[in-house]
Amino acid sequence: QTTAKPPPLPSPLRFSKYFQANTRILVTGGAGFIGSHLVDKLMENEKNEVIVVDNFFTGSKDNLRKWIDHPRFELIRHDITQPLLVEVDKIYHLACPASPIFYKYNPVKTIKTNVIGTLNMLGLAKRVGARILLTSTSEVYGDPLTHPQPETYWGNVNPIGVRSCYDEGKRVAETLMYDYHRQHGIEIRIARIFNTYGPRMNIDDGRVVSNFIAQALRGEPLTVQKPGTQTRSFCYVSDMVDGLICLMEGKNTGPINIGNPGEFTMVELAKTLINPEVEINMVENTPDDPRQRKPDITKAKELLDWQPRVTLRDGLPLMEDDFRSRLGISKR
Ligand code: NAD
Ligand code: UDP
Ligand code: UDP
Repeated sequence: QTTAKPPPLPSPLRFSKYFQANTRILVTGGAGFIGSHLVDKLMENEKNEVIVVDNFFTGSKDNLRKWIDHPRFELIRHDITQPLLVEVDKIYHLACPASPIFYKYNPVKTIKTNVIGTLNMLGLAKRVGARILLTSTSEVYGDPLTHPQPETYWGNVNPIGVRSCYDEGKRVAETLMYDYHRQHGIEIRIARIFNTYGPRMNIDDGRVVSNFIAQALRGEPLTVQKPGTQTRSFCYVSDMVDGLICLMEGKNTGPINIGNPGEFTMVELAKTLINPEVEINMVENTPDDPRQRKPDITKAKELLDWQPRVTLRDGLPLMEDDFRSRLGISKR
C-alpha cells in the first residue's frame, strides 16, 4: 500500500524573493500622535508592511482606523516593557508618553518605558538585525544654557526633578542606543525631536498648542503659564515625519535635531498667532520649565537635506480644523 505524498513545499527561493521585495517596519507607539502620521506615510509605499505595537496609554486605535484590516498592516496591543518577538527589518521606536501631564502621571512607568522598553527594542534589533531609530527629545538639553541648541550641547538637566523621568529616561535611552551600536554593531538612528503639533493631538493633553486651540474654540481665556516670556519652536507633524524618514533612510546615526527653528514666546503664541483679541489668564507654571528652546538644524540640513516647510501660521489652522470637528464646533 502506498501513502499519498504531501505536495512539495514551495521553493525557499520564492519566499526569500517575497521577503526581499517587502520591508517590514515596526512602529512602537504607532497609535499615538506622531506615530500614526508616520504610519500613514509609510503605508503609502506599497513595498512596506507596517506592524504597530502600542499599549494605548496615550494613543488610540481611532488614529489608525483607516489601516485596520489592510493586508500590509498589523496592530498589536503590547507593552514594550515586556519582551517582544517579531521579525522586522526596521524599527521606529516612538513608544513613550510625550506630554508632561501624561509622563508625570506615573513617572516610574515612564522610566521603565524609556529604559526597559528601549532595551527590549534593542535586544529585538540585535536578534533580527534590524535598523532602529529612537525618537529622543529636545528635553535632553534640559533648561539650556546654550541657545539655539546644537547636538554637541550636553544639556542642563535636573536629575531629580519632576521632568527627569522623561528627560533622564531619554538620555539613558540614547546611551543604550550608542552602547548597542558600539558593542553589538546595531545600526542606530537618533532623532532629537523639538515640540511638534498638528491634527490628532490629544485635545486635553495639557500641551500649549492643544490647550490654546481648544480654549480658543470653547471661548475660554488662554492659560499662559508664567512668566509667558519662555520660548518654544513648533514643528508641524508632516515635516517631522519627513525628517524621521530621511534620518532612517540616510547614513548618519545622529543624534540629529529635527524641529522648526521659528521661535515664539508663549505670550506671542497666544496674542499674535491664536487671536489678538483673546483674553489671557496668567497662571502658575510647573517646576523646571525650560526658559528657552530653539533647534540648531544645521546638521539636519547638511546631512539629511531636510528642513521644515510648514510655518506655524500655516500649520495652526490645519490643527484648528481637526480640533473643531472633534469638538463638534462648526465654523462661524
Ligand atoms: P503620544 O503620547 O501621542 O504617543 C506615544 C505612544 O506610545 C502612544 O500611542 C502610547 O499609547 C504609546 N506608549 C506609551 N508607553 C508605551 C508602552 N510602555 N508600551 C507601548 N506603547 C506605549 O506622543 P507623541 O507626541 O506622538 O510622541 C511620540 C514620540 O516622540 C515619543 O517618544 C516622544 O518622546 C517623542 N517626542 C515628541 C515630541 C512632541 O512634541 N510631540 C517632542 C519630543 C519628542
Ligand atoms: N528581547 C526582546 N525581543 C527579542 C530579543 C530580545 O524583547 O527579539 C529583549 C530581551 O528579553 C532582553 C532585552 O531585549 O530583555 C535585551 O536583549 P539582549 O539579547 O541584548 O540581552 P540579554 O537577553 O542577554 O539580557
Ligand atoms: N504652557 C502654557 N500654557 C498652557 C500649557 C503650557 O503657557 O496651557 C507653556 C509651558 O509653561 C511651557 C510651554 O508652554 O513653557 C510648552 O509647554 P508644553 O507642555 O506644550 O511642552 P514642553 O514643556 O514639553 O515643551
